[in-house]
Amino acid sequence: MKILIRFDDIAENMNWNLMEKCEKLFDQFNIKPVLGVIPNNKDKELLSYPFKNDFWKTVKDWQSKGWEIAMHGYNHLYEIETNKKDFFKYGGKSEFYGQSLESQSSKIKDGLKIFQKNNIKIRTFFSPNHTYDKNTFEALKLNNINEIIDGYGLKPYLENDIKFIPQLFYKNFFLPFGLQTTQIHLNYWNDNDYKNFSKLVIKYKKDIISYDEAIKMLSNKKVDKLIRQLLRKILIIKRKLN
Ligand SMILES: [Zn+2]
Repeated sequence: MKILIRFDDIAENMNWNLMEKCEKLFDQFNIKPVLGVIPNNKDKELLSYPFKNDFWKTVKDWQSKGWEIAMHGYNHLYEIETNKKDFFKYGGKSEFYGQSLESQSSKIKDGLKIFQKNNIKIRTFFSPNHTYDKNTFEALKLNNINEIIDGYGLKPYLENDIKFIPQLFYKNFFLPFGLQTTQIHLNYWNDNDYKNFSKLVIKYKKDIISYDEAIKMLSNKKVDKLIRQLLRKILIIKRKLN
């Protein structure tokens, strides 16, 4: 079993107190997480957190340490209700789903410009609320992004010329095999949540891998595809019951 640490909703406004604690923790155990950075955050809920002046310099420093900087949407504003017709059948609202290829592509382009301006390289993406449609994939490919941290399965896989790195559970729940990607929203944490997270990091420190190592686990074997299809069915049913 391997774990990839993915943090969501990294932006100029966030819980910097906890982020600094996490950074120290990661440095102490030489852990390289994936940070989903919102390039042009307009989400009101997130804007209520403290603002960091030298945000982009901080992101650059994280990348220099070998942490993976992923693009997490463009402005984190949810516009269209998916009615569970989104690609992974999560449902809920989406920043991308249901919009034209041109509109999705221009959001991605504008987001990438902000990263480029700040000298940050982007190769991977994950959408707010896990919601995509076929146009999202095309828009990403038009902008030379061919990797997405979302989807089902226990190993990264190639589909539609995109490498998907699966992300299965909302909570830190780990199956005893395969690659497990977390989904961590530290803005909602209290001190106790941080304590639990630091315990988890210490417990699993030998199993936590970097994004580069995760990508190397890519498999399009039949057995992995079957596991993927099975997990997809189970998780879609589970979400319906919740
Ligand atoms: Zn988000």
